[in-house]
Amino acid sequence: MLHRPRSTGPAGVATVRSMNLTSVLTELIRAEGQISRAELATATGLTRMTISRFMDELTEAGMVTETVKPVRPGARGRPASCATVTPGRRFALGVEVNANSLTILAVDITGSIIARRVFVQGFAGEAARRAVSWALEQAEHVLAEVAARHPDSRLIGIGMALPGILGLDGAPEIINAPNLDWRREHLTTVAAFAADHGVELTIHNEATVASRGATMPTPVSIPQPASFIYLSGEVGLGGAIMVNGENYTGVNGRAGEIGHVCVNPDGPLCACGATGCLEVYLGPKGLRQRAGLGPTASADELITAWTNGDPAARAAVDTAGRALGLVLAATINLVDVPAVVVGGWLSPLTQILRIHVHRELVTRLVAFDPADIDFLAAGDGMLAAARGAALAVIADHITRPEDLIGTTAPPAGV
Ligand SMILES: [Zn+2]
Repeated sequence: MLHRPRSTGPAGVATVRSMNLTSVLTELIRAEGQISRAELATATGLTRMTISRFMDELTEAGMVTETVKPVRPGARGRPASCATVTPGRRFALGVEVNANSLTILAVDITGSIIARRVFVQGFAGEAARRAVSWALEQAEHVLAEVAARHPDSRLIGIGMALPGILGLDGAPEIINAPNLDWRREHLTTVAAFAADHGVELTIHNEATVASRGATMPTPVSIPQPASFIYLSGEVGLGGAIMVNGENYTGVNGRAGEIGHVCVNPDGPLCACGATGCLEVYLGPKGLRQRAGLGPTASADELITAWTNGDPAARAAVDTAGRALGLVLAATINLVDVPAVVVGGWLSPLTQILRIHVHRELVTRLVAFDPADIDFLAAGDGMLAAARGAALAVIADHITRPEDLIGTTAPPAGV
C-alpha cells in the first residue's frame, strides 16, 4: 500500500459510522438488487432511520438506485422499494502482467467486469518491461471506455498482479519473478500512473489474488470453498492457501509457493535455481515440454494427446500427477485444508490429474479421509488474477466507505 488517505472526524464517531456504512454496503452488494430498506435494517441490525440516512447519502452519490418492487396480485401492504448498487459508478482496475498474457479489467464494486482488454503472447525480460508500459497504455483505453459507458463513474484504485515475490511493506517492487526474468524490478511507472489518476496502487502476488478472483462472485462474498489450496499454472506454477475465507500469506506475505516444493532433489533445474521442484513437472512450460508439445500448446491439446494414448503425454501427466499428489498430501497434512482448486492453464487438466493425486492422498494423508478432499477446477482462470487484484482494492475501500462515497477524486479517464 503506497498511500492511504484516511477520513477525518471525531475518531469514535467516524469508526462507528464507517462500520455501519460498511455493513449497509456489504448487504447491498450481497443482495444483488433484491433488498428493501426494511430488510436492510433487519440484516444490519440498524434502525430504519439510520438506514434511511445512509440510503439518502448513497443515492445522492449516485451509488444506489431504488425501484418499486411489483406487488404480487392479491398481496397486502404498501409496495416496497428495492435497492440496487448502480452498475459502474465506482470501479477498480485490475492489471495482470504474466509471462504469457496481459490482462486489464475494470471491475465495479459489485464484482462485475465492466471493461476488459486481454492479450495472449509471450513476455519475459525486456519484453515484460515493455509489457508494463503497454499495460498502462491499454489501461488508459479501458478507463476511456468506462468513462464513455458510465459518464459519472469514478476510479477508486489500481491492483496489479504479478507472478513473483513482492517487495516488503507494499513497496512497488518485485524481488524475484523467475518466469518474467525479473530481479529487483521497480514498478515506478505504474505507481506514477496511479498517482496521476489520484488513486492508490497495490501490488499483489498473482496466485494469491487469483485464488480470490476465481472463487468470489463479489468483493464481499465468502470464497467457495472457504478453505482450499489454490494452484495457478500459467507458465510456472504459483500457489495460495485460503483458510476460512482469508488468504494465509505468512509473516511477509510470501506463503504459498507450492511450485517450488522439492519433489526430487536429483531432478531437472527449475527457473528458481533449485532442482526437482513441482513446477518442473506440473508447470505448463515443463508439462508441455515433457509431453512433446510446442510452447503454445493448449491444455486441450495435451488432453487430446493423453486421450489418444500418446506415450510422451501419458508419461508427462503421470509424472506431474504423482508429483502433485506428493506435494498436496504433505501440504494438507501440514495446513489442514480440505480442498484443492486448480486454476489458470492447468484448470482443464483437473479431471485427468485427479486419479494420480487421489492415489498419493490414500497412501500419505495422516489425519484425513482422502474421499473428503475436494479436487476442483477453477472457472474463468484466465481473468482470475486481474479480477482478484481489483476485488482486493474494492474490499479495502468497502471498509472505509467515506473514501468510496466521497467525490473529491477526479472522474475516470481524466
Ligand atoms: Zn523451483
